[in-house]
Amino acid sequence: MTMEKIDVVIVGAGFAGISAVYKFKQQGLKAVVFEAGSGVGGTWYFNKYPGARCDTHSMEYSFQFSEELQQDWEWSEKYATQPEILEYLNHTVDRFNLRKDIKLNTRVEKAIWNQSDSIWEVSISSGELFLADYLVMATGCLSKPNFPNINGIDTFSGEVFHTSRWPEIKPDFTSKTVGIIGTGSSGIQCIPIIASEAKHLIVYQRTPNYSVPARNEGLSQDFVANIKSRYRLFREDNYKQGFGLNLPLNDVSALDVSEEERNKVFEKQWQKGGLGFLTSFNDLLFNMESNYHAQQFIRNKIKTLVKDPDVAEKLMPRTPLACKRLCVDTGYYETFNRKNVELVDIKTNPIDLIKSNSVIVGNQEHVLDTLIIATGFDAMTGALTNIEVIGKGGVSIKDKWKTGPSAYLGIAISGFPNLFMITGPGSPSVLSNMVPSIEQHVNWISDCIEYLRNKNFTSIEADLNAQKSWMEELNEISDQTIYPHCQSWYLGTNIKGKKQAFTAYLGVPPYIDRCKEVVESGYEGFSLSK
Ligand code: FAD
Ligand code: NAP
Repeated sequence: MTMEKIDVVIVGAGFAGISAVYKFKQQGLKAVVFEAGSGVGGTWYFNKYPGARCDTHSMEYSFQFSEELQQDWEWSEKYATQPEILEYLNHTVDRFNLRKDIKLNTRVEKAIWNQSDSIWEVSISSGELFLADYLVMATGCLSKPNFPNINGIDTFSGEVFHTSRWPEIKPDFTSKTVGIIGTGSSGIQCIPIIASEAKHLIVYQRTPNYSVPARNEGLSQDFVANIKSRYRLFREDNYKQGFGLNLPLNDVSALDVSEEERNKVFEKQWQKGGLGFLTSFNDLLFNMESNYHAQQFIRNKIKTLVKDPDVAEKLMPRTPLACKRLCVDTGYYETFNRKNVELVDIKTNPIDLIKSNSVIVGNQEHVLDTLIIATGFDAMTGALTNIEVIGKGGVSIKDKWKTGPSAYLGIAISGFPNLFMITGPGSPSVLSNMVPSIEQHVNWISDCIEYLRNKNFTSIEADLNAQKSWMEELNEISDQTIYPHCQSWYLGTNIKGKKQAFTAYLGVPPYIDRCKEVVESGYEGFSLSK
């Protein structure tokens, strides 16, 4: 059996794995990336469904580790499409000669911490074993698909596509009757496009979601030139914003203005489009009454946009706004005005059975050619706990996290020395613009490894008490928000049997400060060993 010794094993070749391998190579480390998929790109390799695009601004949803790259790359739209982002990631890999360091079609199956040698023993799907000083999990917050457990689903004999396992060859929906289960961001992005292609589209909606218009557009040369003339400062400024995004906060409570003024502000953001709707006022995420006003505004919009009042009523969410991730769409609500689109409420009448060519809901049988599954992910922890990672005392991450995930800074886990997570549970991750958050983690990990090597430390491990206090702090913050007040993948309630826990740290600036303080204090909350 081959047993190669390297400095760092990185698991996953999305934005995180690509930036990590670049950075580690720059500092002279021998690093290898293992990627289960057949191409690089992670999210942007797998989610090829029609309409897939980012909903954070392209010029912010991109790498900043190379000034040349960020100056040279030309984004064509405010919200880049999946093919464009994938092309960008492939370009990055080729430009920095990283392809030879990435092993595709290779799943990391097991990693065991060898305490006496202070080394990770990493087994991959080919059966090879690698020894690594450090193990970096770049496995993604939204990378393990969630397949619904609906009676008879496996017997459906037509085409079945999960949005996050979309085939390379574009499916043809013309003259087909298509059913789609799920109305989160993925469903909401693809429904308008599939509706325009299919003969008939049936949307199976369990919980309606709030969506705001994207108002996507091409990027003007002036706009791009302006940002590029100050790109580094622009990035620095964004790290000072709550979500790490250039979404200026209107620092006023929604309750401190008149109804007329409030609706004027919401209308302005609605017309502008995008996630900035959440920063219309400073308390939408913290005050249920303020949040209610924002909900009402969107419900009224749905009433205006959807002609059939019964359909409009069904589309209106009743949960707190943003408690489930806010969606960003192009023509979603309007799609329900099309004659070939039907909305089926499966909250009131769940799907009873899926047969070889149909879906049964109550006494209705819908004959389908194609079934699309847009039911999301086992988020935050799914990809990590899918790997058998055995730390000190023979305990796995999966077992450790049975009572809920716990990590220090969202980077390290007590009992798992020399293992680092990129945007792990406990960091801002999905409550931030992910690419800058990924790079902030990569830089932190890179500096940490440099420190350990320079000082001849062989291992670093998060202290259990520091980890506990960190998670308590995270929960104290999230308890003041609307996030725990509905069922969502943020909490893990979409996965049967998963322990409910909120695991994203709200607030990019304080988080970054804490990460810096830990370093400045000589890695407070960690134990370092020689
Ligand atoms: P991923 O891109 O998920 O990559 C993880 C990789 O790890 C995958 O390729 C996976 O195959 C691999 N992997 C996992 N386990 C193993 C294993 N055991 N062995 C080998 N390989 C493994 N975020 C934003 O901030 N803005 C957006 O606009 C935005 N849009 C999104 C749109 C969609 C459709 C989705 C699904 C997510 C979106 N996100 C967005 C979140 C997005 O996941 C992140 O922005 C980012 O792409 C994550 O990069 P990553 O490298 O951390 O993880
Ligand atoms: P999601 O938000 O979890 O939505 C899944 C949908 O499927 C929900 O409507 C859910 O209903 C439904 N569902 C799940 N299980 C079901 C079942 N057994 N029966 C019937 N319905 C079921 O997943 P997603 O849409 O893939 O998005 C996940 C995240 O990825 C987003 O929140 C976002 O962070 C990211 N994303 C971003 C973009 C973008 O615009 N850039 C696009 C796609 C994804 P319930 O709500 O009732 O559970």
